[in-house]
Amino acid sequence: MKVEKQAIERISSAQTVLVVCHVAPDGDAIGSLLGLGTALEQTPKHVTLICPDPVPEEYDHLPRWETVIGPLPERPPPSGQGAVLVTLDCSAPDRLGKAYDAQWLAGIPIVNIDHHPTNTYFGEVNWVEPSAVATAQMLVHLIEALHIPLDADSATCLLHGLVSDTLGFRTPNTGVEVLRTAIRLMEAGAPLPYLTDRIFNHRPLGMVRMWTHALQELTLEGHILFSEVTQRMRREVGYDQDGDAGLVNFMNATNEADIAVVFSELEDGQINVSMRSTARYDVSQVAFQLGGGGHTQAAGCTLPGPLADAKARVLPLLHQAWHAQSLQR
Ligand code: AMP
Ligand code: MN
Ligand code: MN
Repeated sequence: MKVEKQAIERISSAQTVLVVCHVAPDGDAIGSLLGLGTALEQTPKHVTLICPDPVPEEYDHLPRWETVIGPLPERPPPSGQGAVLVTLDCSAPDRLGKAYDAQWLAGIPIVNIDHHPTNTYFGEVNWVEPSAVATAQMLVHLIEALHIPLDADSATCLLHGLVSDTLGFRTPNTGVEVLRTAIRLMEAGAPLPYLTDRIFNHRPLGMVRMWTHALQELTLEGHILFSEVTQRMRREVGYDQDGDAGLVNFMNATNEADIAVVFSELEDGQINVSMRSTARYDVSQVAFQLGGGGHTQAAGCTLPGPLADAKARVLPLLHQAWHAQSLQR
């Protein structure tokens, strides 16, 4: 993998580096944030790690998670301090949530490092690598190019990103290079079995109960399997955290379905849509068309409610995409 030269130059020459990941962070977003942050902390640079949403409890096993701050610090760094904002795993500025404030960021160049094919190239420097299985994979190469030694803490966070986005090295983009990178991270001290266990074998009872409710609403329409998570279900089980990714991944393993979707009602009435597909069906373009983004086989968007309206927009587009892509075979 070729590291974008301008990304190396911008980060090497900066004295202050603000690193930020996307809203509702997943294992790659948080692993990348902490992995790069921990590596940069070994240099004389001033490093600030930003996550637009609170770091979910499920990541509290990762080194330095408690050093991450919420949206942007009160004041921007003084001009002349050579600051850069490095965005990780974010395909568009709205993925930065409250951490995107054009006025605050005036004069601070953005280095956009991401692996989503739907990236909108919103930075001054854009290193976008859709062939990378995770942003964390790109960062292993970046850290090497910056001549920073890979320590066990940084390697642990980066392997966390790799394992999360490949679902434990099970996605079809898991090739020899990915496994080589994983071995490098393990040699640097990253505990693979521990991370795999934390990522896949731990979930709160409330989440499982929420899935039980959602699975009762399961509907198969053609080759599309969908379900919903409502605020009422959440109140009934007393669970208000995320958990749709695990649910839609589970649904995606159903033999009769090529595409799985979970429509999840948010507190503010908007609908979060999580899509997955199997064997060569592309759901990223439908998500992108609706203002979201993602990867070929895992994508999402957020739409206005109510649930019925969101379904009425998404399902016909997915049926069309399924038919068009089936014809191409
Ligand atoms: P999820 O279904 O939330 O696990 O997301 C699957 C993929 O789609 C991830 O790569 C996300 O980064 C991307 N994604 C999810 N929601 C959005 C959104 N609203 N806008 C852009 N990308 C999204
Ligand atoms: Mn992500
Ligand atoms: Mn990712």
